[in-house]
Amino acid sequence: MSDYTVLSTQELQQVHMDLLEKFNKLKDENLALDMSRGKPSPDQLDLSNGMLDIISADTPLKAEDGTDVRNYGGLDGLPEAKAFFSNILNVSSNEIIIGGNSSLNLMHDTVARAMLFGVNDGETAWAKLPKVKFLCPSPGYDRHFSICELFNIEMIRVDMLEDGPNMDQIEKLVQEDESIKGIWCVPKYSNPDGITYSDEVVDRFASMKTKAKDFRIFWDDAYTVHHLTDKPDELKNILTACKQAGNEDRVLIFSSTSKITFAGGGIGVLASSENNIQYFKKLLAMQTIGPDKLNQIRHIRFFKNVENLSTHMKKHASIIKPKFDMVLNKLESEIGGKNIGSWVEPNGGYFISFNTLDGCAKTVVSMAKEAGVKLTGAGATFPYGHDPRDRNIRIAPTFPSLIELERAMDVFCLCVQLASVEKLLKEQL
Ligand code: PMP
Repeated sequence: MSDYTVLSTQELQQVHMDLLEKFNKLKDENLALDMSRGKPSPDQLDLSNGMLDIISADTPLKAEDGTDVRNYGGLDGLPEAKAFFSNILNVSSNEIIIGGNSSLNLMHDTVARAMLFGVNDGETAWAKLPKVKFLCPSPGYDRHFSICELFNIEMIRVDMLEDGPNMDQIEKLVQEDESIKGIWCVPKYSNPDGITYSDEVVDRFASMKTKAKDFRIFWDDAYTVHHLTDKPDELKNILTACKQAGNEDRVLIFSSTSKITFAGGGIGVLASSENNIQYFKKLLAMQTIGPDKLNQIRHIRFFKNVENLSTHMKKHASIIKPKFDMVLNKLESEIGGKNIGSWVEPNGGYFISFNTLDGCAKTVVSMAKEAGVKLTGAGATFPYGHDPRDRNIRIAPTFPSLIELERAMDVFCLCVQLASVEKLLKEQL
Protein backbone atom coordinates (compact mmCIF):
# COMPACT_ATOMS: atom_id res chain seq x y z
CA MET A 1 0.00 0.00 0.00
CA SER A 2 1.12 3.53 -0.63
CA ASP A 3 2.92 5.81 1.76
CA TYR A 4 0.23 8.04 3.30
CA THR A 5 2.70 10.81 3.97
CA VAL A 6 3.23 11.49 0.26
CA LEU A 7 -0.45 11.53 -0.74
CA SER A 8 -2.04 14.73 -2.03
CA THR A 9 -4.87 16.38 -0.11
CA GLN A 10 -7.38 15.03 -2.59
CA GLU A 11 -6.03 11.48 -2.31
CA LEU A 12 -6.03 11.70 1.48
CA GLN A 13 -9.62 12.94 1.45
CA GLN A 14 -10.64 9.93 -0.64
CA VAL A 15 -8.81 7.52 1.72
CA HIS A 16 -10.44 9.27 4.67
CA MET A 17 -13.93 8.79 3.23
CA ASP A 18 -13.32 5.08 2.61
CA LEU A 19 -11.91 4.54 6.09
CA LEU A 20 -14.74 6.43 7.73
CA GLU A 21 -17.30 4.28 5.97
CA LYS A 22 -15.58 1.12 7.23
CA PHE A 23 -15.32 2.59 10.72
CA ASN A 24 -19.02 3.38 10.88
CA LYS A 25 -19.87 -0.15 9.75
CA LEU A 26 -17.62 -1.56 12.49
CA LYS A 27 -19.34 0.59 15.10
CA ASP A 28 -22.65 -0.96 14.11
CA GLU A 29 -21.31 -4.40 15.04
CA ASN A 30 -21.40 -3.42 18.76
CA LEU A 31 -18.14 -5.22 19.52
CA ALA A 32 -16.92 -5.65 23.11
CA LEU A 33 -13.27 -6.72 22.92
CA ASP A 34 -10.42 -6.15 25.36
CA MET A 35 -6.72 -5.90 24.48
CA SER A 36 -5.85 -3.74 27.46
CA ARG A 37 -4.02 -5.90 30.03
CA GLY A 38 -1.41 -8.63 29.85
CA LYS A 39 -3.45 -11.44 31.29
CA PRO A 40 -2.98 -15.12 30.44
CA SER A 41 -5.89 -16.68 28.55
CA PRO A 42 -8.03 -19.41 30.13
CA ASP A 43 -6.32 -22.13 28.06
CA GLN A 44 -2.94 -20.95 29.33
CA LEU A 45 -4.23 -21.22 32.90
CA ASP A 46 -5.49 -24.74 32.12
CA LEU A 47 -1.86 -25.80 31.55
CA SER A 48 -1.28 -25.60 35.30
CA ASN A 49 -4.48 -27.27 36.48
CA GLY A 50 -2.46 -30.37 37.37
CA MET A 51 -1.01 -28.31 40.20
CA LEU A 52 -4.41 -28.27 41.87
CA ASP A 53 -4.45 -32.06 42.23
CA ILE A 54 -0.86 -32.44 43.29
CA ILE A 55 -1.55 -32.22 46.98
CA SER A 56 -4.51 -33.75 48.76
CA ALA A 57 -5.45 -34.99 52.20
CA ASP A 58 -3.44 -38.18 51.56
CA THR A 59 -0.23 -36.54 50.29
CA PRO A 60 2.80 -36.28 52.59
CA LEU A 61 3.08 -32.59 53.38
CA LYS A 62 6.65 -32.44 54.59
CA ALA A 63 9.29 -30.45 52.74
CA GLU A 64 12.76 -31.87 52.02
CA ASP A 65 14.11 -30.58 55.32
CA GLY A 66 11.19 -32.09 57.27
CA THR A 67 9.23 -28.82 57.56
CA ASP A 68 5.49 -29.43 57.81
CA VAL A 69 4.26 -27.15 55.02
CA ARG A 70 0.89 -26.75 56.74
CA ASN A 71 2.46 -25.02 59.71
CA TYR A 72 4.09 -21.66 60.42
CA GLY A 73 7.71 -20.93 59.54
CA GLY A 74 10.05 -20.85 56.58
CA LEU A 75 10.30 -17.06 56.41
CA ASP A 76 12.40 -16.98 53.23
CA GLY A 77 10.96 -20.08 51.57
CA LEU A 78 11.40 -23.86 51.53
CA PRO A 79 14.90 -25.04 50.57
CA GLU A 80 13.58 -26.78 47.44
CA ALA A 81 11.70 -23.63 46.36
CA LYS A 82 14.84 -21.53 46.88
CA ALA A 83 16.88 -24.05 44.90
CA PHE A 84 14.34 -24.07 42.05
CA PHE A 85 14.17 -20.29 41.69
CA SER A 86 17.94 -19.94 42.19
CA ASN A 87 18.36 -22.14 39.13
CA ILE A 88 15.97 -20.01 37.11
CA LEU A 89 17.55 -16.71 38.11
CA ASN A 90 21.14 -17.99 38.31
CA VAL A 91 21.77 -16.83 41.85
CA SER A 92 22.66 -18.83 44.96
CA SER A 93 20.09 -20.08 47.48
CA ASN A 94 21.40 -17.53 50.00
CA GLU A 95 20.59 -14.75 47.61
CA ILE A 96 16.87 -15.35 47.36
CA ILE A 97 13.65 -14.83 49.30
CA ILE A 98 10.51 -16.68 48.26
CA GLY A 99 7.63 -14.32 48.85
CA GLY A 100 3.87 -14.47 48.56
CA ASN A 101 1.74 -14.52 45.45
CA SER A 102 3.01 -11.40 43.69
CA SER A 103 6.27 -9.79 42.66
CA LEU A 104 4.59 -6.38 42.42
CA ASN A 105 3.82 -6.75 46.10
CA LEU A 106 7.53 -7.42 46.79
CA MET A 107 8.51 -4.34 44.76
CA HIS A 108 5.99 -2.17 46.56
CA ASP A 109 7.17 -3.40 49.97
CA THR A 110 10.83 -2.95 49.02
CA VAL A 111 10.18 0.69 48.13
CA ALA A 112 8.08 1.12 51.28
CA ARG A 113 10.91 -0.28 53.47
CA ALA A 114 13.46 1.97 51.79
CA MET A 115 11.18 4.94 52.46
CA LEU A 116 10.65 4.00 56.11
CA PHE A 117 14.00 2.48 57.13
CA GLY A 118 16.53 3.00 54.32
CA VAL A 119 17.88 0.36 51.94
CA ASN A 120 20.13 -1.25 54.55
CA ASP A 121 21.34 -0.81 58.14
CA GLY A 122 22.90 2.59 58.62
CA GLU A 123 21.34 4.11 55.51
CA THR A 124 18.96 7.09 55.71
CA ALA A 125 15.25 6.41 55.34
CA TRP A 126 14.35 7.91 51.97
CA ALA A 127 11.22 9.50 53.43
CA LYS A 128 13.46 11.70 55.62
CA LEU A 129 15.10 13.23 52.56
CA PRO A 130 13.74 16.41 50.99
CA LYS A 131 13.40 14.70 47.63
CA VAL A 132 13.63 11.16 46.22
CA LYS A 133 13.77 10.56 42.47
CA PHE A 134 13.63 7.43 40.32
CA LEU A 135 14.67 7.01 36.72
CA CYS A 136 11.94 5.52 34.56
CA PRO A 137 12.96 4.09 31.19
CA SER A 138 9.92 4.73 29.03
CA PRO A 139 7.81 3.30 27.61
CA GLY A 140 7.67 1.11 30.70
CA TYR A 141 5.35 -0.73 33.09
CA ASP A 142 2.59 1.52 34.43
CA ARG A 143 2.38 -0.22 37.81
CA HIS A 144 6.04 0.62 38.54
CA PHE A 145 5.19 4.25 37.93
CA SER A 146 2.13 4.00 40.18
CA ILE A 147 4.34 2.86 43.08
CA CYS A 148 6.46 6.00 42.62
CA GLU A 149 3.37 8.21 42.56
CA LEU A 150 2.05 6.55 45.71
CA PHE A 151 5.26 7.30 47.63
CA ASN A 152 5.70 10.75 46.13
CA ILE A 153 8.90 9.72 44.37
CA GLU A 154 9.63 12.07 41.48
CA MET A 155 9.97 10.24 38.18
CA ILE A 156 12.51 11.18 35.54
CA ARG A 157 11.87 9.82 32.08
CA VAL A 158 14.71 8.04 30.30
CA ASP A 159 14.52 6.96 26.65
CA MET A 160 14.40 3.33 25.63
CA LEU A 161 16.73 2.37 22.80
CA GLU A 162 16.97 -0.89 20.83
CA ASP A 163 19.21 -2.63 23.36
CA GLY A 164 17.87 -1.18 26.60
CA PRO A 165 17.56 2.22 28.25
CA ASN A 166 19.75 5.11 27.12
CA MET A 167 22.81 4.51 29.32
CA ASP A 168 24.46 7.81 28.39
CA GLN A 169 21.48 9.65 29.89
CA ILE A 170 21.39 7.38 32.93
CA GLU A 171 25.11 7.54 33.75
CA LYS A 172 25.06 11.33 33.55
CA LEU A 173 21.98 11.70 35.75
CA VAL A 174 23.05 9.28 38.51
CA GLN A 175 26.52 10.79 38.69
CA GLU A 176 25.18 14.31 39.19
CA ASP A 177 22.14 13.96 41.39
CA GLU A 178 22.26 12.39 44.85
CA SER A 179 18.48 12.40 45.16
CA ILE A 180 18.19 9.81 42.36
CA LYS A 181 17.83 6.66 44.40
CA GLY A 182 16.56 4.10 41.97
CA ILE A 183 15.55 2.96 38.52
CA TRP A 184 12.86 0.62 37.22
CA CYS A 185 13.97 -1.95 34.65
CA VAL A 186 12.20 -4.81 32.88
CA PRO A 187 15.39 -6.22 31.37
CA LYS A 188 14.09 -9.19 29.41
CA TYR A 189 11.27 -9.04 26.87
CA SER A 190 10.55 -5.64 28.37
CA ASN A 191 7.07 -4.38 29.09
CA PRO A 192 6.01 -3.05 26.61
CA ASP A 193 8.80 -2.96 23.98
CA GLY A 194 9.65 -6.67 24.20
CA ILE A 195 13.38 -6.04 24.00
CA THR A 196 16.19 -7.59 26.06
CA TYR A 197 19.00 -5.48 27.46
CA SER A 198 22.41 -6.07 25.86
CA ASP A 199 25.45 -7.26 27.82
CA GLU A 200 26.92 -3.79 27.48
CA VAL A 201 23.85 -2.21 29.09
CA VAL A 202 24.00 -4.71 31.98
CA ASP A 203 27.72 -4.04 32.51
CA ARG A 204 27.21 -0.28 32.45
CA PHE A 205 24.43 -0.60 35.04
CA ALA A 206 26.68 -2.71 37.25
CA SER A 207 29.70 -0.45 37.08
CA MET A 208 28.33 3.10 36.70
CA LYS A 209 29.24 5.65 39.34
CA THR A 210 26.27 6.88 41.35
CA LYS A 211 26.29 9.98 43.55
CA ALA A 212 23.79 8.28 45.91
CA LYS A 213 25.56 5.39 47.59
CA ASP A 214 22.16 3.88 48.41
CA PHE A 215 21.13 3.80 44.74
CA ARG A 216 19.18 0.65 43.79
CA ILE A 217 18.25 -0.95 40.48
CA PHE A 218 14.77 -2.49 40.60
CA TRP A 219 15.36 -5.29 38.07
CA ASP A 220 11.93 -6.71 37.32
CA ASP A 221 12.74 -9.95 35.51
CA ALA A 222 9.04 -10.82 35.11
CA TYR A 223 9.43 -12.47 31.69
CA THR A 224 12.68 -14.35 32.18
CA VAL A 225 11.42 -17.74 30.84
CA HIS A 226 8.64 -16.41 28.61
CA HIS A 227 10.12 -17.10 25.20
CA LEU A 228 8.19 -17.06 21.94
CA THR A 229 10.89 -18.61 19.78
CA ASP A 230 13.35 -21.50 19.90
CA LYS A 231 16.18 -18.97 19.98
CA PRO A 232 15.49 -17.15 23.24
CA ASP A 233 17.15 -13.86 24.08
CA GLU A 234 19.93 -14.13 26.65
CA LEU A 235 20.18 -11.66 29.49
CA LYS A 236 23.53 -11.21 31.22
CA ASN A 237 23.45 -11.97 34.97
CA ILE A 238 23.36 -8.57 36.64
CA LEU A 239 24.04 -9.76 40.19
CA THR A 240 27.30 -11.37 39.03
CA ALA A 241 28.17 -8.23 37.03
CA CYS A 242 27.48 -6.05 40.09
CA LYS A 243 29.69 -8.26 42.26
CA GLN A 244 32.50 -8.06 39.72
CA ALA A 245 32.18 -4.28 39.67
CA GLY A 246 32.27 -4.09 43.49
CA ASN A 247 28.61 -2.97 43.67
CA GLU A 248 26.96 -6.16 44.81
CA ASP A 249 24.26 -4.50 46.90
CA ARG A 250 23.10 -2.35 43.99
CA VAL A 251 20.57 -4.64 42.33
CA LEU A 252 17.23 -6.04 43.52
CA ILE A 253 15.89 -8.73 41.19
CA PHE A 254 12.18 -9.58 41.15
CA SER A 255 10.30 -12.32 39.38
CA SER A 256 7.24 -14.50 39.73
CA THR A 257 5.30 -17.42 38.32
CA SER A 258 2.22 -15.28 37.65
CA LYS A 259 2.49 -15.83 33.88
CA ILE A 260 3.83 -19.37 34.34
CA THR A 261 1.17 -20.98 36.53
CA PHE A 262 -1.71 -18.92 37.90
CA ALA A 263 -1.78 -15.12 37.66
CA GLY A 264 -2.25 -13.90 41.20
CA GLY A 265 -1.96 -17.49 42.49
CA GLY A 266 1.71 -17.97 41.79
CA ILE A 267 4.92 -17.30 43.71
CA GLY A 268 6.88 -14.04 43.83
CA VAL A 269 10.64 -14.00 44.43
CA LEU A 270 13.26 -11.44 45.33
CA ALA A 271 16.97 -12.04 44.67
CA SER A 272 19.85 -9.84 45.75
CA SER A 273 23.20 -9.85 47.54
CA GLU A 274 23.38 -11.90 50.76
CA ASN A 275 23.83 -8.64 52.63
CA ASN A 276 20.58 -7.21 51.26
CA ILE A 277 18.72 -10.50 51.76
CA GLN A 278 19.77 -10.62 55.44
CA TYR A 279 18.49 -7.08 55.94
CA PHE A 280 15.18 -7.79 54.22
CA LYS A 281 14.70 -10.97 56.26
CA LYS A 282 15.16 -9.02 59.48
CA LEU A 283 12.36 -6.63 58.50
CA LEU A 284 10.22 -9.31 56.88
CA ALA A 285 10.18 -11.20 60.19
CA MET A 286 8.14 -8.32 61.62
CA GLN A 287 5.69 -8.50 58.75
CA THR A 288 4.91 -12.21 58.49
CA ILE A 289 5.61 -15.51 60.23
CA GLY A 290 6.10 -17.02 56.81
CA PRO A 291 4.68 -17.25 53.29
CA ASP A 292 2.26 -19.81 51.84
CA LYS A 293 4.38 -22.97 51.78
CA LEU A 294 1.51 -25.09 50.46
CA ASN A 295 1.68 -23.11 47.24
CA GLN A 296 5.45 -23.54 47.16
CA ILE A 297 5.18 -27.31 47.49
CA ARG A 298 2.46 -27.40 44.82
CA HIS A 299 4.74 -25.56 42.41
CA ILE A 300 7.83 -27.60 43.21
CA ARG A 301 6.07 -30.97 42.95
CA PHE A 302 4.36 -29.88 39.73
CA PHE A 303 7.55 -28.76 37.96
CA LYS A 304 10.18 -30.90 39.76
CA ASN A 305 12.98 -29.28 37.73
CA VAL A 306 13.84 -26.47 35.36
CA GLU A 307 13.68 -28.76 32.30
CA ASN A 308 9.99 -29.41 32.96
CA LEU A 309 9.46 -25.70 33.44
CA SER A 310 10.96 -25.12 30.04
CA THR A 311 8.62 -27.71 28.46
CA HIS A 312 5.70 -26.01 30.20
CA MET A 313 6.75 -22.60 28.83
CA LYS A 314 6.85 -24.07 25.31
CA LYS A 315 3.19 -25.03 25.78
CA HIS A 316 2.43 -21.41 26.72
CA ALA A 317 4.32 -20.27 23.62
CA SER A 318 2.35 -22.62 21.39
CA ILE A 319 -0.86 -20.98 22.64
CA ILE A 320 0.24 -17.35 22.47
CA LYS A 321 2.66 -17.33 19.51
CA PRO A 322 -0.20 -17.58 16.97
CA LYS A 323 -1.75 -14.55 18.67
CA PHE A 324 1.47 -12.54 18.42
CA ASP A 325 1.77 -13.65 14.78
CA MET A 326 -1.79 -12.56 14.13
CA VAL A 327 -1.08 -9.08 15.53
CA LEU A 328 2.18 -8.76 13.61
CA ASN A 329 0.65 -9.97 10.34
CA LYS A 330 -2.25 -7.56 10.66
CA LEU A 331 0.12 -4.68 11.40
CA GLU A 332 2.23 -5.61 8.41
CA SER A 333 -0.67 -6.01 6.00
CA GLU A 334 -2.70 -2.99 7.16
CA ILE A 335 -0.09 -0.49 8.36
CA GLY A 336 3.15 -1.66 6.71
CA GLY A 337 4.47 0.60 3.94
CA LYS A 338 2.12 3.46 4.85
CA ASN A 339 4.65 5.29 7.01
CA ILE A 340 2.14 5.80 9.81
CA GLY A 341 3.45 3.55 12.58
CA SER A 342 6.29 1.39 13.84
CA TRP A 343 6.56 -1.67 16.04
CA VAL A 344 9.04 -4.30 17.21
CA GLU A 345 8.64 -8.05 16.83
CA PRO A 346 9.42 -9.46 20.29
CA ASN A 347 11.09 -12.82 20.97
CA GLY A 348 9.14 -13.22 24.20
CA GLY A 349 7.08 -11.55 26.90
CA TYR A 350 3.50 -10.39 26.77
CA PHE A 351 3.32 -7.28 24.63
CA ILE A 352 3.77 -5.59 21.30
CA SER A 353 4.60 -1.92 21.54
CA PHE A 354 3.19 0.22 18.74
CA ASN A 355 4.16 3.79 17.93
CA THR A 356 1.72 5.89 15.92
CA LEU A 357 2.63 9.14 14.17
CA ASP A 358 3.32 11.76 16.85
CA GLY A 359 0.14 13.06 18.43
CA CYS A 360 -2.14 10.17 17.37
CA ALA A 361 -2.08 7.61 20.22
CA LYS A 362 -4.87 9.16 22.32
CA THR A 363 -7.08 9.52 19.25
CA VAL A 364 -6.50 5.89 18.26
CA VAL A 365 -7.36 4.62 21.75
CA SER A 366 -10.55 6.67 21.93
CA MET A 367 -11.61 5.71 18.39
CA ALA A 368 -11.05 2.03 19.21
CA LYS A 369 -13.15 2.46 22.35
CA GLU A 370 -15.93 3.96 20.27
CA ALA A 371 -15.80 0.87 18.05
CA GLY A 372 -15.92 -1.47 21.07
CA VAL A 373 -12.23 -2.33 21.52
CA LYS A 374 -10.56 -1.56 24.83
CA LEU A 375 -6.84 -0.78 24.61
CA THR A 376 -4.32 0.14 27.32
CA GLY A 377 -4.78 3.88 27.87
CA ALA A 378 -2.52 6.08 25.74
CA GLY A 379 0.19 7.51 27.97
CA ALA A 380 -0.05 4.64 30.49
CA THR A 381 3.42 3.46 29.51
CA PHE A 382 4.96 6.78 30.62
CA PRO A 383 5.46 8.35 34.07
CA TYR A 384 2.46 10.41 35.19
CA GLY A 385 0.54 8.96 32.21
CA HIS A 386 2.20 11.53 29.95
CA ASP A 387 3.66 10.36 26.66
CA PRO A 388 5.42 13.49 25.39
CA ARG A 389 4.99 12.44 21.75
CA ASP A 390 1.53 10.90 22.31
CA ARG A 391 2.45 7.93 20.16
CA ASN A 392 2.90 4.74 22.22
CA ILE A 393 0.19 2.10 22.53
CA ARG A 394 0.75 -1.22 24.30
CA ILE A 395 -0.95 -4.14 22.57
CA ALA A 396 -1.67 -7.11 24.84
CA PRO A 397 -2.55 -10.08 22.63
CA THR A 398 -2.62 -12.97 25.13
CA PHE A 399 -6.09 -12.87 26.68
CA PRO A 400 -8.57 -12.65 23.77
CA SER A 401 -9.23 -15.72 21.62
CA LEU A 402 -7.63 -15.76 18.17
CA ILE A 403 -10.96 -14.91 16.55
CA GLU A 404 -11.61 -11.99 18.92
CA LEU A 405 -8.06 -10.80 18.46
CA GLU A 406 -8.38 -10.77 14.69
CA ARG A 407 -11.48 -8.61 14.94
CA ALA A 408 -9.85 -6.33 17.53
CA MET A 409 -6.80 -5.88 15.31
CA ASP A 410 -9.01 -5.00 12.33
CA VAL A 411 -10.47 -2.24 14.47
CA PHE A 412 -7.05 -1.19 15.77
CA CYS A 413 -5.48 -0.97 12.32
CA LEU A 414 -8.45 0.93 10.97
CA CYS A 415 -8.26 3.43 13.83
CA VAL A 416 -4.52 3.92 13.29
CA GLN A 417 -5.13 4.62 9.61
CA LEU A 418 -8.03 6.94 10.29
CA ALA A 419 -6.21 8.92 12.99
CA SER A 420 -3.11 9.20 10.78
CA VAL A 421 -5.06 10.42 7.75
CA GLU A 422 -6.88 12.97 9.90
CA LYS A 423 -3.55 14.22 11.27
CA LEU A 424 -1.98 14.42 7.79
CA LEU A 425 -5.01 16.23 6.40
CA LYS A 426 -4.94 18.74 9.24
CA GLU A 427 -1.26 19.41 8.49
CA GLN A 428 -2.00 19.99 4.80
CA LEU A 429 -4.95 22.32 5.26
N1 PMP B 1 6.22 -6.91 36.41
C1 PMP B 1 5.90 -6.79 35.11
C2 PMP B 1 6.88 -6.20 34.17
C3 PMP B 1 4.64 -7.19 34.66
O1 PMP B 1 4.32 -7.04 33.36
C4 PMP B 1 3.72 -7.76 35.58
C5 PMP B 1 2.36 -8.23 35.18
N2 PMP B 1 1.73 -7.54 34.20
C6 PMP B 1 4.10 -7.84 36.93
C7 PMP B 1 5.36 -7.42 37.31
C8 PMP B 1 3.16 -8.37 37.97
O2 PMP B 1 3.65 -9.54 38.49
P1 PMP B 1 2.99 -10.26 39.73
O3 PMP B 1 1.75 -10.90 39.27
O4 PMP B 1 4.03 -11.23 40.13
O5 PMP B 1 2.75 -9.22 40.79
